[in-house]
Amino acid sequence: MARDTGAKCKLCRREGDKLYLKGARCYSDKCSFERRPYAPGEHGQGRVNFTEYGLQMREKQKVRRIYGLQENKFARYFEDAEAMRGVTGNNFIQLLERRLDNVTYRLGFASSRNEARQFVLHGHIYVNGTRVDIPSCQVDVGDKISVKDSSRKKNRFKEIFEYNSEMAPPEWLTVDLEKAEGEVLDLPTVEDIDFPLEEHLIVEYYSR
Ligand code: SF4
Repeated sequence: MARDTGAKCKLCRREGDKLYLKGARCYSDKCSFERRPYAPGEHGQGRVNFTEYGLQMREKQKVRRIYGLQENKFARYFEDAEAMRGVTGNNFIQLLERRLDNVTYRLGFASSRNEARQFVLHGHIYVNGTRVDIPSCQVDVGDKISVKDSSRKKNRFKEIFEYNSEMAPPEWLTVDLEKAEGEVLDLPTVEDIDFPLEEHLIVEYYSR
């Protein structure tokens, strides 16, 4: 499937916010956005006054890039969210957060959502004891997510577990990094996400 493969740091600069797409680098002084917090290109430092539509579009693009999804897939999540009972914005975020690649990241098994996606695709991640290599797989309450036995001994996983050892997962998840196991305790809500979000702008964008 085609994906955003352009320089990730440029995406942050384009969106005017840190999207945390590169793991540990995002928290270091090597972060490009910290050094150049303006859009790339000749006119990047100019003042921009967004229209209402522009604001909606930027918020949508920001969230789409954080989850690393193509437009058609992202829009399909919105359609599914609209068809569900409840508040569309909350349903939408729930569908995005329940993706297996996102949960792998939020449990601290990967340093970024992009790396989590690679781990899932390469068969390192198990759900309820069975290998699942589909990043978009939706996890449910009670599901147990773990890193494959042989994989958790690899240096990359050891590094990640050490780096994340002090990290607390969101309230809807629980994790034991020593065992490389986690569980879904509840369904996520918009309050549980790890970046500033104005989901009403996305709802307005797709409701036009
Ligand atoms: Fe964005 Fe991370 Fe690059 Fe900083 S280091 S600009 S947060 S992807």
